[in-house]
Amino acid sequence: MSKNIVIVGYGPAAAQTAQTLASSLPSGYRIVAISSGPGYWPIAALRGAVVPGWEDKPIASTDNAFPKGGQHVLIEPATVVELRRNSIVLDEAAAGFDAEIPFEYCVLATGSAYPYPCRPRRSTFADAVADLRQTQQEVAAAKSILVIGGGPVGVEVAGEVAEYYNGKDGRAKKEITIVHSHDRFLHESGWKDKFNSTLKQQLEAYGINVILGQKVVDGPAESGKVEGGSRAFHLDNGQSVTADYVFVAHGNAPNTGLVRDFDASALDEKKRVRVRPSLQLEKYDNIFAVGDITNVKEEKTFYASKGHAPVAAANILSLINASKPAKAVKPTGQMLVVTVGSKGGAAQLPFGFVMGSWFTSFAKGKSLFIADFKKLYNAPA
Ligand SMILES: Cc1cc2nc3c(=O)[nH]c(=O)nc-3n(C[C@H](O)[C@H](O)[C@H](O)COP(=O)(O)OP(=O)(O)OC[C@H]3O[C@@H](n4cnc5c(N)ncnc54)[C@H](O)[C@@H]3O)c2cc1C
Repeated sequence: MSKNIVIVGYGPAAAQTAQTLASSLPSGYRIVAISSGPGYWPIAALRGAVVPGWEDKPIASTDNAFPKGGQHVLIEPATVVELRRNSIVLDEAAAGFDAEIPFEYCVLATGSAYPYPCRPRRSTFADAVADLRQTQQEVAAAKSILVIGGGPVGVEVAGEVAEYYNGKDGRAKKEITIVHSHDRFLHESGWKDKFNSTLKQQLEAYGINVILGQKVVDGPAESGKVEGGSRAFHLDNGQSVTADYVFVAHGNAPNTGLVRDFDASALDEKKRVRVRPSLQLEKYDNIFAVGDITNVKEEKTFYASKGHAPVAAANILSLINASKPAKAVKPTGQMLVVTVGSKGGAAQLPFGFVMGSWFTSFAKGKSLFIADFKKLYNAPA
């Protein structure tokens, strides 16, 4: 009977870890990956929600996650409802498995909770594509769009709408307003003024109304069209913004409820999983964490998680071979690439270098890394 390496969640960080481990595990070990639904690529989900033809690009089937007939298994759709010392518990038994699945090693990769469309609302490929297509139609029908939150997500979604609905080819311009509670889009220390001002200038050049330092007091919890047509949304300074579609672009939180219920001391004050440089949980040698849920000091990005997969995989292999898990994660630090549509945006790179539209479009905006994403899931392009 094979020993299990259970991977919880099958987002981009998990998929990379599984791909790295799959080919190097000795016989007698198998990966059991628990997937809540098809692969979802938040990086392209905003364009997927706005631009017709992009609805299937941020979604990848997991059918070919592992070679057919091999020892590794992916269970989908399934949710892990409990983490135990040497096992996980699923919401229900799956083909060939009881609800409780024992593990030799576990990799937690449950990522972030974020309002749709940054994370999917549906758990099949067809339903997730249909959902994005429906959103495109609602956005097309809207005249005035309120974006609540002006972090990277708010900036990117406003940019997608403004670039596509540009007054050409019958695509009438929309009135777009971003309301952000801080005085700068990226308000934490370390983000350069030039990074923020470049993004603001580009949005304003599209005619987007940017309101900083204010909160919407009566906004919805989810993105969507305003029921009954347009209405006024109120800000805490008494001002109001009228809109018939709202994008909710705030509320990002790590998905770490499983760890909290297992051992609350394994989380830090930001509810992220405390990991050692080896990506093992501080108190548990056989449980690892990768991706957005970890407390590694770096931006929570796919790029950062690319460095996690080889570390977790190498250290699991070391433990299997009875050696010390010696590979350490190298934090990527503070860097971010924020698009304004496919042609604009700005980036802050290591050492505080700020780049503008040309770099951002070339490095991210045009492709949104769709080919890399589909490859991660062995899915057709
Ligand atoms: C608009 C936007 C733009 C971005 N741009 C960039 C960029 O340019 N470059 C970059 O590198 N990064 C970017 N990111 C960040 C990147 O998308 C995330 O860092 C990445 O998705 C994190 O991957 P993850 O696997 O850790 O988590 P997630 O993508 O959140 O995946 C976690 C998975 O685990 C599943 N799960 C959770 N709980 C359970 C459970 N109990 N049981 C089973 N499954 C579970 C979830 O359903 C999900 O499928 C962007 C994000 C957004 C929203």
